[in-house]
Formats: sequence, C-alpha cells, structure tokens
Amino acid sequence: MQRAIIHVDMDAFYASVEQHDHPELADRAVIVGGTGKRGVVAAANYAARRLGVHSAMPMARARRLAPKAHYCRPRMNRYREVSRQVFAIFERYTPLVEGLSVDEAFLDVTGSLRLFGSREHIGAAIRDDILTSTGLHASVGMAHNKFLAKLASDADKPQGFVSVPQDAVRRFLDPMPIGRLWGIGKKTEPRLRAQGLLTIGQLRQADPALLASLLGSRAGHFLSLARGIDEREVEARRADKSISHESTFANNLHDARQLRAELLRLTEAVMRRVREQQLMARTVTIKVRDYRFHTVTRSLSLRAASDATKTVYQVASGLLDTWLSKHGNTPVRLLGVGVSKLSPAAGQGSQVDGSLDEITARFGTRKLTRGLAMDAGKKDDTERG
Ligand SMILES: [Mg+2]
Repeated sequence: MQRAIIHVDMDAFYASVEQHDHPELADRAVIVGGTGKRGVVAAANYAARRLGVHSAMPMARARRLAPKAHYCRPRMNRYREVSRQVFAIFERYTPLVEGLSVDEAFLDVTGSLRLFGSREHIGAAIRDDILTSTGLHASVGMAHNKFLAKLASDADKPQGFVSVPQDAVRRFLDPMPIGRLWGIGKKTEPRLRAQGLLTIGQLRQADPALLASLLGSRAGHFLSLARGIDEREVEARRADKSISHESTFANNLHDARQLRAELLRLTEAVMRRVREQQLMARTVTIKVRDYRFHTVTRSLSLRAASDATKTVYQVASGLLDTWLSKHGNTPVRLLGVGVSKLSPAAGQGSQVDGSLDEITARFGTRKLTRGLAMDAGKKDDTERG
C-alpha cells in the first residue's frame, strides 16, 4: 500500500516566535542569534532574508547587511514550549511522528487516512491547528515518501502547501538542482556540475557508467532518489523512551576514582546518543550492582532538560557519591547510566560536546574520556534504549 507522508516545517521558527510574542516587531526584520563577538545567526525572518541575512552567518556580517533589524538572543525555553504545542498537534493525527528538530517533523499518516480523509486534508488541518494554537505559520509537504515530502514542504516557503502526486514526481523533481538530493555533499556537487549534471533530471538520465565513475557505490542510491524512490520509514520516537549504557567489569571495582572515571565514560556514550538523536534529557538514573548481585537504581531530575555531558555527569556522580558514602568499599560489579524524560532539542546544543562528538565519530570512542583515563580491563558494555 502506498504510504502517506507529511513533512511539516515551521517558517523562520525562532524569529516568528519572537515576532508573535512582541507584536511591535510585526513589520521588522528580526534576527535571532548570539550577541557575543563570535555570535552567529540562529534564525532570520523573511524580511531579514530579503536583506541577505541567513542562518549560520556571523552576526557581525548580519549587522552590516541589516543595521536596522531587531536583534535578540535565542530564548530556547520559549521555543521548546511552542515546539511541544506543535508536536502535540501532530500526535492528534498520528502516533508516527519523527521529530527532526524543534520545528520540523515527518508524520506517517497512512493509518489515519480512513479517519481523517486524504493526506491533503490532514496537512491542511495540521497547518490550521498550528496557526490557531500558536499564531505561527508552517509549511507543509505531502507525498508518498520522506524525500519527496521534505522537498515539497520547502518548495513554496513560507506558508507553503505542496502535495506531490505519484504521476507528477518527475515534473516536480527534474528541474531541481542536484544539491537537493539527500547526501550530495560539497565535494560531490562540483564534480557532477563539471560534467554538466546540474539538475536532478539530468542526473536521472545520465550515462550509468559516468554516474558510477563519479559517485562510486553511491550511484544507485542517488539514482533512486532522482527517480523519487525513498523507502526509509518514519521513525517515531516515543516520549517515554530512555537511553542508557552499562558496563560489567571483568574485575569488580571499589576505588571511587575509578568508578567515577567509568561513570564519565558511560555518560559520554549516553549523551552522545542523546545529541545524535537531537534530544534533551531531564531525568538521570544510575544503576549499581555490587559483588553480591544486589542492584540499586537512583534517579534525579534536572531543573531543565539538557544535552550536555557535563550537566548530566554532575548529577550522575552526585548519585554515585551518595551510594559510595553508604557502601564504602563494597566491590562493584556493574555500573550503568541512563537518561529519560527525553524531548526534542532546540537548534545548536552544547558546542564543546558537539565538537567532541565530531572527534569521536572520526576517531572512535576509546580515546575520549576527558583526561580521566582508566584501566578497567575487559568489559562487557551494553547499549540500551
Ligand atoms: Mg523551519
């Protein structure tokens, strides 16, 4: 059965929230971003974009281009609050919601068609519900797969509403620049362009041998996308899920310093996954199993959700210290850390953690324990959640 996929993307989200909360900004160019020396633009409304300002641009450059714009710092808590309202609307229509960021999600509404009508009915209802409950505009794309739905939501922004019928896929895709194909990077694009492949249609019709020489093993992937084929499923993230790592020691540990180092290593692993999935965590849990197989778990909630390793580690090590203060030198057989009460993260998370994640992705996880090295012998690590 053909699927019905909707991609919803809020228009200039942070800047629109600011305008909505401050009606006096209604006709102004609004730029949200860091105000420090090295600040960058996090969001610019359409009036600011017409002046050439776009996100990720250094603020200093934005100020030169748009000296009269209204500048403000991001209020992430407020954006998350609005985001929760928007996601609650999505869930009225389907449980299959895959959040990509605070202001963007895929919805698989295949199972909702009988109840609500066509995907266009559902898309329009969602757009209207968002406007009614938040006062903000969203762009909506509808198609039979994720790739097309995402391109559709972007095709007529802001306040876009684009549905791509199966028999219009080529007409929709062919004129688009090849850069729109998922996974075409900054290195690949110029090489394709140099061969005269500027549009998706040109790539679709190109000589297979040429594509193979330019794209190697990825040629088939890009050719499928160019034909509008994308089998990826919408992956719903359940709100009650948790992410945890635990480690069973080859030799029981009782040294507090070693246990803390191990705890940090586990926390790093957990939080890296939290950030990869663009989430924030509210509740931190540790699990300690002693040499007699007595297992305890201890939890504590943060005041505000976080995606920072340091914040979560502080809570986890506090919980561990409390356990240690009561159990002294009891040998520990297994240690675990988990986070729950997960919510979608807003925009850029912790910069330190972000760059560490990048290093880890490139060099593997072993080197990275923030200066606290330890020799825990052979371990049995388990990934959960
Ligand atoms: Mg957006």
